[in-house]
Amino acid sequence: MAPTVEEVPSVFDTILVLDFGSQYSHLITRRLREFNIYAEMLPCTQKIKDLTWKPKGVILSGGPYSVYAADAPHVDPAVFDLNVPIMGICYGMQELAWLNGKKVGRGEKREYGPATLNVLDQSCPLFENVDHSIVWMSHGDKLHGLPAGFKTIATSDNSPFCAIAHESKEIYGIQFHPEVTHSKKGKILLRNFAVSICKAAQNWTMENFIDTEINRIRQLVGPTAEVIGAVSGGVDSTVAAKLMKEAIGDRFHAIMVDNGVLRLNEAENVKQFLGEGLGINLSVIDAADEFLTKLKGVTDPEKKRKIIGNTFIHVFEREAENIKPKSGEEIEFLLQGTLYPDVIESISFKGPSQTIKTHHNVGGLLENMKLKLIEPLRELFKDEVRHLGELLGIPHDLVWRHPFPGPGIAIRVLGEVTREQVAIARKADHIYIEEIRKAGLYNKISQAFACLLPVKSVGVMGDQRTYEQVIALRAIETTDFMTADWFPFEHDFLKKVASRIVNEVDGVARVTYDITSKPPATVEWE
Ligand code: GLN
Repeated sequence: MAPTVEEVPSVFDTILVLDFGSQYSHLITRRLREFNIYAEMLPCTQKIKDLTWKPKGVILSGGPYSVYAADAPHVDPAVFDLNVPIMGICYGMQELAWLNGKKVGRGEKREYGPATLNVLDQSCPLFENVDHSIVWMSHGDKLHGLPAGFKTIATSDNSPFCAIAHESKEIYGIQFHPEVTHSKKGKILLRNFAVSICKAAQNWTMENFIDTEINRIRQLVGPTAEVIGAVSGGVDSTVAAKLMKEAIGDRFHAIMVDNGVLRLNEAENVKQFLGEGLGINLSVIDAADEFLTKLKGVTDPEKKRKIIGNTFIHVFEREAENIKPKSGEEIEFLLQGTLYPDVIESISFKGPSQTIKTHHNVGGLLENMKLKLIEPLRELFKDEVRHLGELLGIPHDLVWRHPFPGPGIAIRVLGEVTREQVAIARKADHIYIEEIRKAGLYNKISQAFACLLPVKSVGVMGDQRTYEQVIALRAIETTDFMTADWFPFEHDFLKKVASRIVNEVDGVARVTYDITSKPPATVEWE
């Protein structure tokens, strides 16, 4: 029998966040991690008996529903038998009130915005260093009275039941949202709950995670099985591959597919960085012709994306067949660099009719190859992955690299993708990024790239009329990629990049800078 695999929440003290569908739920998890406390989010429909680990405390999140509505979601009552501290936030507090006397209803008016917290019980550990701070309200329902067995521990001008606590058990409810930055001392309150009340150890660090994860991979894969995985040169796949290499050495096979639309010299660089530098067992497959042949004549962005996705699966599977493990056994696992935000996205509570989504990006591969999935980064946020990458000795520039889309330069060459067009876009992009690095701006920008626009424009060079294409430069600042602003370069910087591109890249007569934010524009042009 295979040894049982120790999952992260059974190794690290864990705060369980039960999600009732609030847009802020993931932030609760995020904030606790900032204090080195491991927190994991599960949908509010989670059956407590199905948990394979015991949380140190439970937080019930906010949510868009009204607890008194017929189809409102409710927590599994077994959560109260865990005998660990529980805190309800907004909907979560209304849920606690609903379960203990049903005194919740519609308020006369919605309360949205700041309020000042007025703590009544100064001895309550939840409020240490939080009294009189600004807290953020966002609710339309309210408590019409105290739930049975509870007392009021804080008020605000509009909310007589701003915070409540059980008389004898460690159960708390707060009407405001401590997880949003508008609640000035919200982080402290969350830490007070996790550390002072739940007694969770603050040992969630990437230093500690490395060993746990390497052990987990070894237990999962066992002594002989082999694993394959795609690497792209991006931070996630590189960190995942390096972890696999540390855990099982050459039994991990990395495959890099050169699809002909990668950045300039990318395949060569990855070979050097990952293969020679990090010692990963790597095959680089030159499939540029295959991809570019399939892209011939295609101009529709969605079609381009589909062709690249499908061709990738095809090439990857074919290459996987060529790998013959020394053990003589079949390849058993597929590595996937899934991060925690993808997991959150697929499990977050979206209403009674929700269906759990699978990760669409690996769906195809898994169906055809009958492989088991291994996802060593599935507990981690992006900044945790970067920190882990640095600890694993991955070069700084790679760890802090801007994201690069799967369909690559194919969606940065507008219109038909040909070898010649890719070469132009690549060269221009290379110059642009080189100048950004030289100016010390790379880490201030979230993503930057050049696009090739398939329109011709008149120019003059050396007294000759030119009639060539246009390069559009894009650079954005963002924290979450959901909204983004264009980066305010100095004029001299733009002047220099434009002149280098027109001078050094044949086929370009004009350079423009994209000054649209997201929304209404997207980050990529296609
Ligand atoms: N839907 C509930 C209300 O309007 C809870 C809101 C929330 O959790 N933010 O009061």
